Amino acid sequence: MGQIGEAVRRAAAKLEAAGVENALHDAWRLMALALDGDPLLLRLRAGDDLSAEQESAFDALICRRAQREPLQYIEGDTEFMGIRLRVSESVLIPRQDTETLCSEALRLLDPGDRVLDIGTGSGALAIALKRLCPGAAVTAVDISPAALEVAKENACRCGAGIEFLRSDCFGGLAGRRFEMIVSNPPYLTQEEMQTLMPEVQREPEGALFGGADGLAFYRRITAEATQHLTPGGHLLFEIGWRQKEAVSALLRESVGEPHAIRDLGGNWRVVWACRRAAACGAQGD
Ligand code: GLN
Repeated sequence: MGQIGEAVRRAAAKLEAAGVENALHDAWRLMALALDGDPLLLRLRAGDDLSAEQESAFDALICRRAQREPLQYIEGDTEFMGIRLRVSESVLIPRQDTETLCSEALRLLDPGDRVLDIGTGSGALAIALKRLCPGAAVTAVDISPAALEVAKENACRCGAGIEFLRSDCFGGLAGRRFEMIVSNPPYLTQEEMQTLMPEVQREPEGALFGGADGLAFYRRITAEATQHLTPGGHLLFEIGWRQKEAVSALLRESVGEPHAIRDLGGNWRVVWACRRAAACGAQGD
């Protein structure tokens, strides 16, 4: 029978050999999960003995992580904008990068605005916007029924009143208009899909792959955006780090003058535009 600290160190070596980044961190987290304890407090108990049951529960979790299952799927949750969200293999794991989009949307949002989140996945963006701007009326759509189940459960747990609909982009939203549309669509290119980290390969392809050049969803959404944006309404996208020019051009063509924002890592991560007046006349508003 081993002690907690020793078992964690042994497991971390195994994870590191399997190519896991932050192996020691993950090993402590999984020990906490196995013992149903707090990962930080657990370090104070490094000398405590493990029961045979605890050891085998821990080994099973370490095996999953060594096979490069993401820590968030094993733990079953993650944090986005300070909000705990359940995640499963049906949804993309919310990234810190996406907080850039969320923060920019909050800056542009007025209470009372109708907001649409396209491709909501776990519901991260929609839930954070509703929680941080409770006056907004938030609608969230996804093509995946399994993702919508996760998103609904997350919204329910957070007490965030959100309208969820199954819809392929604007497909199920005929006649609906919004003051703001946000989307973190699938945007990886065919080439990028070939070189994904093993952890990312576990995430839904439908949440990652944006067609050969990664731009398919930006084309679809910008092409129809003015039918669903109120005059002066905002469309905000998360983008891949090399997509600023291409997505800006699509926005300029169909919506309005584009603005770009970098993420905390310094990469271009968000582009947005306000629906121009000329387009509004053309749509007969
Ligand atoms: N940011 C994700 C990644 O790099 C991609 C998410 C997306 O396609 N929207 O894995």
